[in-house]
Amino acid sequence: MIAEIVINRSAKKLNRTFDYKIPKELEELVMIGSTVIVPFGKSSTLEEGYVIGIKENTSYEVKDIVKIKHNLTEKQIELAQWMAKRYFCNISDCIKQMLQPGTKSKKETRNIQDKTINVVFLSKDIEEIQFDIETDKIKSEKQKKVLQFLKNNDGVTITEIELFTGCTRAIVKTLEKNGYVEIVEKKVERDPLANKKIEKTENLQLTDEQKYAYDKITKKMNQNEYEQFLLFGVTGSGKTEVYLQLIGESIKNGKTAIVLVPEISLTPQMIDRFVARFSKEEIAVLHSKLSIGERYDEWNKIKEGKARIIIGARSAIFAPTQNIGIIIIDEEHDSSYKSEAIPKYDAKEIAKKIAKENNCPLLLGSATPDLVTYYNSKKGKIKLLELTKRANNSKLPNVKIIDLKMELANGNRSMLSIDLYNEIEQNLKNHKQTILFLNRRGYSTFIMCRECGYTVKCKNCNISLTYHKSENKLKCHYCGYEENVVTICPECHSTKIRYFGTGTQKLEQEINKLFPKASTIRMDIDTVTKKNSHEEILNKFKNENIDILIGTQMVVKGHHFPNVTLVGVIAADSSLNIDDYRANERTFQILTQVAGRAGREGLEGKVIIQTYNPENFSILCAQEQNYDKFYNTEIALRKQLNYPPFCDIILIGFNSLVEKEIIEVSHKLYEYLKKNLDNQFFNVLKPMPSPIDKIQNKFRWRIIIKGNLTEDASQIINKGLKEIYNSNYKNTRITIDVNPNNMI
Ligand code: ADP
Ligand code: ZN
Ligand code: ZN
Repeated sequence: MIAEIVINRSAKKLNRTFDYKIPKELEELVMIGSTVIVPFGKSSTLEEGYVIGIKENTSYEVKDIVKIKHNLTEKQIELAQWMAKRYFCNISDCIKQMLQPGTKSKKETRNIQDKTINVVFLSKDIEEIQFDIETDKIKSEKQKKVLQFLKNNDGVTITEIELFTGCTRAIVKTLEKNGYVEIVEKKVERDPLANKKIEKTENLQLTDEQKYAYDKITKKMNQNEYEQFLLFGVTGSGKTEVYLQLIGESIKNGKTAIVLVPEISLTPQMIDRFVARFSKEEIAVLHSKLSIGERYDEWNKIKEGKARIIIGARSAIFAPTQNIGIIIIDEEHDSSYKSEAIPKYDAKEIAKKIAKENNCPLLLGSATPDLVTYYNSKKGKIKLLELTKRANNSKLPNVKIIDLKMELANGNRSMLSIDLYNEIEQNLKNHKQTILFLNRRGYSTFIMCRECGYTVKCKNCNISLTYHKSENKLKCHYCGYEENVVTICPECHSTKIRYFGTGTQKLEQEINKLFPKASTIRMDIDTVTKKNSHEEILNKFKNENIDILIGTQMVVKGHHFPNVTLVGVIAADSSLNIDDYRANERTFQILTQVAGRAGREGLEGKVIIQTYNPENFSILCAQEQNYDKFYNTEIALRKQLNYPPFCDIILIGFNSLVEKEIIEVSHKLYEYLKKNLDNQFFNVLKPMPSPIDKIQNKFRWRIIIKGNLTEDASQIINKGLKEIYNSNYKNTRITIDVNPNNMI
């Protein structure tokens, strides 16, 4: 392979590319954006250069690249190799996770210190963009190049795009016009913590339970030993205070600390708690809303050893820090720790490897631990530490379950039960705030002809379209396809078209009708468009004392609203009916978390859960806030049906425009796996169409393997995949997901 390289020198005549051969042993490592060392000019002096393109051949006689300068350690390369095997992806994809964001030199980074910058974000799904590229819906090579670059670097400036792709501003503007990217003006804050003025806090006197946990963990820290701990305590039980003091201990010992939190809870309030305890120079924050330049700077602070406390989302586990004293994963049950993009890694597994490497403890914290984590703590693989009381003595809320079947029988067709209606009214009178949670956006879920049963489906995907009232359009939530509302059934020409189900948009409208004086605000993907506005909506709700917040999943996590005393769950069933072995667990977690939003500051909180399944155990256990009872029931089911933690689930997904080929490929791999893997420990299930068997005109099939994914097993699977990749199936793509979040 040949790399096209620009030399890192300012001389004008060097402003062009030079071809270099990539030696075999570097082939997997050199990629676009790599910093490499090459012999340059007649005297072959060694120069630094950047790879801006890779191609098969060159007509020149070329020299070899001497060295690649990723600044990655051997340990990181080892980790990347391990990841590649475990998650069935390319080593280069894993290495990329560990590279400094922004691959340019410091000088270039400084050049973009304007007051405001235009940051470019992808505004469509990566899958969708890939599809448009592959099917030549996007024809311009330059546009493709910019999109490819953005796929790995979402949230860069236009200047950065120009610099790295060689494409002009005009290309980006065209992409904006065509709806592929969104350009957002952003104030430059090279230091994301620069303007923070926060009052210092001191360590609190720990409660007995906190102290016990603290002592157990610091003992391991001081002995330089790895051990995994689970800090299990309800919201408000003082977990964060324990984290803060453990981090303090690590810093005192001259070591560093990594704290992972779910992306969505990386709010300023949450970061403030760390800044208030430590100095902001010591803290680096890493998450996807920072510009690439900001991330670059944070990375430097870490590399240079200035920042010894790293707080970030999933990918912060790859921060370039050495001598780690503790790794903390807060809300460890959160699904965002599992990557949905390639490499589809699990940050908890990576954290475990890194903690072992550093001989330091790994602390997982949660109010509703992942079932697998809790199982491992029962088996003695993880040490369990419990906080059973709320630190500030506020009471857990009172939770009531409402049977929607009964409401219907009593003639109540509204989305609100009588009880919930009365409670909202009461809350409005008391000038207290309410949160209403409904895990479904849009207006109605689907549209059906009452004469013949016809439902309107997406023409690209085998899935019903959702009605969006504000635009009066039917939309596909998978591919974004939209069409006008039908008033006459295309099948039987009847006009009896009915709208079924409910979404957040419809709920808001109904609330506005029922409580015309109440102020409302809605939060779901449709209202959260510009990056950041998620935060803005929540701040508005809090600061302007808006009466009712209506939202999807997004409203559930980690926020703290002192004035909220009522939480209503409109339909607890939406997470029960998903086709996933974790449906019960998700339901229990969501409901327990939602309930935790009510009445946190001494005020009594009320929660009303509406459901068609009032007898379901995950709902009943959430009502009692009884994790153990939930665990015991669910673990018995998992064992009976052979699901994690009793095995790993390996989902091999196929997608293809050609149905004949997808069937052939999946069966070929299946035959191989059946022959080489299926035994008493492994169960390889027959290839089947996926639950959603078509998305964007691509057929979708899958093979599920259940078994313990050991290194041997992964080797066998990798070998089978290689054979398939080497045979000539041009139209079919294969993606593998180990213990996926989403079985659809
Ligand atoms: P969690 O992380 O489990 O939700 P926090 O650490 O945020 O809990 O604690 C909840 C509240 O209790 C915070 O306001 C915190 O300052 C307070 N708190 C925590 N530990 C103590 C303690 N030992 N003494 C007094 N207040 C505490
Ligand atoms: Zn019809
Ligand atoms: Zn679709």
